Amino acid sequence: MNVRVGVLAVQGAFLAHADILEQLGVTPVEIRQPAHLRDIDAIVLPGGESGTMSKLLASTGLHEPLGELLACGLPAFGTCAGMILLASSILDGRDDQRCFGAIDIEVRRNAYGRQVDSFEADIDTTFGEFHGVFIRAPRIETCGAGVEVLGSHRGEPVLVGQGTALAAAFHPELSGDTRIHRFFLSHVAGLIPAETTPTAKGQ
Ligand code: GLN
Repeated sequence: MNVRVGVLAVQGAFLAHADILEQLGVTPVEIRQPAHLRDIDAIVLPGGESGTMSKLLASTGLHEPLGELLACGLPAFGTCAGMILLASSILDGRDDQRCFGAIDIEVRRNAYGRQVDSFEADIDTTFGEFHGVFIRAPRIETCGAGVEVLGSHRGEPVLVGQGTALAAAFHPELSGDTRIHRFFLSHVAGLIPAETTPTAKGQ
């Protein structure tokens, strides 16, 4: 079966995600307009600027159909700004900024402060240590009862999952490590066999 995974491509860091998806043997599909949502098995929402993305989702007509697909359980992986889009509530967002509520988290934009707004850190995840690249990252301030914390940094959640949604505050597509994307495709979306999910970095 040819697995097709959408990558929201209205703005932001979508190419690195497409590369990793190709490495994992699935077909990335750039999503820029509603017709592109046809026949995708899952979607990745990349990093970028979530306020701008929200605006572009509205102007391209993508917001409503994508929201419906997410509500029906389309598997979704959001990173950084993509995590903000999947959240149920946004703090310090733009007034007109919307989110899909696919995962029950409250996130604060740009919450790591100006001096340390971009940093790299090894984070603890259920797959072992993972090198996290944080770029003007949002902070997960609250998690609902149904949210599973899969990775944390200094005791705070930075990788979370709920149902068919997975969200990272950092950029796993920039670490040269495919484990989190593999986990998404195998365990969250059920699109590739679980036994191919490695436990060691880079495998
Ligand atoms: N600060 C951005 C926002 O609020 C997110 C940054 C990123 O995706 N790297 O949308």
